[in-house]
Amino acid sequence: MTELEKKAREWLHNRGVTPNDIAELVYYLQSKYHENLDMEECLYNVERVLAKREVQNAILTGIHLDVLAEQRKLEEPLQTILATDEGLYGIDEILALSIVNVYGSIGFTNYGYIDKQKPGILGFLNDKSTGKCHTFLDDIVGAIAAAASSRLAHRAAHIE
Ligand SMILES: [Mg+2]
Repeated sequence: MTELEKKAREWLHNRGVTPNDIAELVYYLQSKYHENLDMEECLYNVERVLAKREVQNAILTGIHLDVLAEQRKLEEPLQTILATDEGLYGIDEILALSIVNVYGSIGFTNYGYIDKQKPGILGFLNDKSTGKCHTFLDDIVGAIAAAASSRLAHRAAHIE
């Protein structure tokens, strides 16, 4: 494992997100399409996505900005935009799309859907009462789940 991957995984963990949490999102997205889908298969695909360098770069960049906003170390107006997760900012979604793009266009549909539903860990990340700033991380986690889902779907299509 590279230093970059180690760091990205460590930062995810420090912000309360495990690969298993993301695998649960994949299961949520894909179980209706694959009859015998199990969590092991979901987790495997999440691990493959986490091994990609562009994904690790997005994780580090996004979490870093979240943490700086939490520590009030950014300059205005960016500080307030990130700390309040302002709806029209949009760069959090753009960064997350660099992850969705890795496994092709099925990812887009999954990403949009899960971003609306906010199941599992995404509900926790969107809970403003925790005092944490997850403006970037919620989109990143949704995007990893979407990318892992399209990887899984592509592979399943191959086998069938
Ligand atoms: Mg966001």
